[in-house]
Amino acid sequence: MRRFTVPTVQAGHAIGVDLGGTKILAGVLARDGSVVRRHERPTPQDSQEHVLAELEAAVAELLDKSVGAVGFGAPSPIDQARGIVVRCVNVPLENAPLRERMGERFGLPVGLDNDANAAAIGEWRAGAGRGEDDLVMLTLGTGVGGGVISGAQPFRGRNGAGAELGHVVIVHDGRPCQGACTGRGHLETYVSGSAATAAAREALGPAVDAHGLVGLADEGDAKAKDLLAGIGRHLGSGIGSFVNIFGPQLVVLGGGFGVAAYEHLRGPAEEVARREALEPMRSSVRLAKAELGTAAGLIGAAFVGFEALDSA
Ligand SMILES: [Zn+2]
Repeated sequence: MRRFTVPTVQAGHAIGVDLGGTKILAGVLARDGSVVRRHERPTPQDSQEHVLAELEAAVAELLDKSVGAVGFGAPSPIDQARGIVVRCVNVPLENAPLRERMGERFGLPVGLDNDANAAAIGEWRAGAGRGEDDLVMLTLGTGVGGGVISGAQPFRGRNGAGAELGHVVIVHDGRPCQGACTGRGHLETYVSGSAATAAAREALGPAVDAHGLVGLADEGDAKAKDLLAGIGRHLGSGIGSFVNIFGPQLVVLGGGFGVAAYEHLRGPAEEVARREALEPMRSSVRLAKAELGTAAGLIGAAFVGFEALDSA
């Protein structure tokens, strides 16, 4: 049966909501990726109901007749089949039926995704990855998030929880991973901002965190540059494997630490990644710095909203 969709200016926008550990960042987005309006409020830490109420309030603040859908990015695996936020890191949200609740509350199509997937979608549609059909994004912050665009489609795996690229093993039986992860030797343990802070404290003293480490390297400090180069080489091991698996044209580095340290990580990461990667990907893959900054998550979340609208 042929379906007719009537394009109207009335549904030209989507609201994107990026749920973070400290802030809820929300925005109204046009299909070209431009942010029309923004809103932010603190993330409550006391209860699930409070978090849900604040997410609703953030949407309500921005809602008007131009909005046809809402998308959410959360720091959690997502059960796409059931529309559930499984368990957030740093936010009291577990087994939350966000899609159903927000759909009932606002009467609009609702999309959900992992925050790193949302950031990858944001960079693909409106940032460093514009025009690419195959890209891998790594967000280096407190942890390491991953997102993959494959054949011009976001890759989410069977139940929607993929792609957790920060939790691939780069050192067999290596350091224990962070938080609830029971693994060892995961990429996150070697290249996250937290890992950089731990390495900096050990080598340069307790006052130096990841931010200070990058500052010292920017000033030319040899020890700081060496530490970041070591982190870059570990990153290159991960990237080389991702290039072999996904064959992307582009690998985008984002997240607070990834962007700040980009110029120091890039060379060593590229050198190791090209050693590990096979032809023809080895020659064709490029590294790029994320362009959207902290807005990547909300922009990507809005595109997840458009995706829900287009498939409704
Ligand atoms: Zn892990």
